[in-house]
Amino acid sequence: MQSPEKLIDLYRQKGMRITPQRRLIFEILSGDGSHPTVDELYQSVRSHMPEVSRSTVYNTVNELVALGELEIVENTREGGTRYDPETSPHHHMYCRSCQKLIDLLHDDEPLTLAPENVSGFKVERIQVTFYGICPDCQ
Ligand SMILES: [Zn+2]
Ligand SMILES: [Zn+2]
Repeated sequence: MQSPEKLIDLYRQKGMRITPQRRLIFEILSGDGSHPTVDELYQSVRSHMPEVSRSTVYNTVNELVALGELEIVENTREGGTRYDPETSPHHHMYCRSCQKLIDLLHDDEPLTLAPENVSGFKVERIQVTFYGICPDCQ
């Protein structure tokens, strides 16, 4: 995800409305490594701006996904869809106990498939999840 200032520029360029709620959502998401669900994000936004509606948060999340500024995290169905402001390709470690999702940003070993496995399949994105138990839960 780009910085909140850049997102505001992007919204303006696209003729999309910038509201104080959206601005706050950008700020909360920026640098958030917790991979929040819409509900978790809604709770954080509400703690700063109690009058915000859940649909505003939901719509803004969907807009950011459509703009490619927010990624949906695959393979973590429990507790609802989780969103990731880190849009560069990266993998995750997932704690099965506390459902914490940890970014693996410095693992630059590229994941490749053997040509005989690909057989014409067009790979669009790669997202790998390592499942296990985090140190806090062990
Ligand atoms: Zn854990
Ligand atoms: Zn991530």
